[in-house]
Amino acid sequence: MTIFEKSPIPKDAAERRARKPLVCYSVNGLPEYPRDQYQAARTNLVKIDEVLVQPRDANTFTVPAGHFFRISSVEGSQVGDLNLWNSHDLNERFYSGKTRQLQASHLTTGDRLWSNLPGMRAMATITHDTLDWYGWDADGGGVHDVIGTRCDPYTNRLLKNDDYHYCCHSNLTRALAKHTGLPTNEIEHHVHDVMNVFMCTGFTLDTHQYFMKASPVRPGDYIEYFAEMDLLGALSACPGGDCGSSHSDDSTPCYPLLVEVFKTATDALSDWKPSQPNQYSGTHGL
Ligand SMILES: [Zn+2]
Repeated sequence: MTIFEKSPIPKDAAERRARKPLVCYSVNGLPEYPRDQYQAARTNLVKIDEVLVQPRDANTFTVPAGHFFRISSVEGSQVGDLNLWNSHDLNERFYSGKTRQLQASHLTTGDRLWSNLPGMRAMATITHDTLDWYGWDADGGGVHDVIGTRCDPYTNRLLKNDDYHYCCHSNLTRALAKHTGLPTNEIEHHVHDVMNVFMCTGFTLDTHQYFMKASPVRPGDYIEYFAEMDLLGALSACPGGDCGSSHSDDSTPCYPLLVEVFKTATDALSDWKPSQPNQYSGTHGL
């Protein structure tokens, strides 16, 4: 927050600041994370598909409800920008802001990724995260944030007066265009705020500005999700590489990311059901 003209400090400023913070949403009412069931299901997984995402590019993948997908670092430290849609309706998509409110600024095992209104249901649940040891570092940074958006050519144009075509927004747009067979100007608006997989971010302790630092991810690390509904995913291997120095340009080493889709070979999910659309009446007081 930039303050150009200072306001007078009230006498009771300290008292006002000392009020106790409350977590905004009581998440006790949410469907419980069925840890034992999901962990049992993942004890025996069979790979049914895999997609390699090339550096500075994106690719799509589909995951049937009740299946798992895993995003892995394979050659070098690399962050990925993840979009998710209902595979039957692109209008239902991952809602980064509400996920942040319901879960946290950075996600890990047990957290859910929620869809936008009016669907407002769990799209996926994180079932394993090899970077869960990272926690919060001394700068206030963590991994896998849902606070940043995605690097995009419009902001880049504003800041650098330059056209760069391989930002995550453009990569995701090209991938979705290829998947749907539609021109980019018809599907670009379906690209949305991402989950920043493997990215290490936070807010600076003094000015609370969004920062990035080199990702701790190394080849072999992965994050795994359980699909709570039929999903179309798109993943961009960010031109920022490990996001330790820059983004929106070709100056940083970039590496591929691997997406693998699995089904369980156990009967742990025999009574499991996909998430259902939100039951709000939709009348909004009228
Ligand atoms: Zn990016």
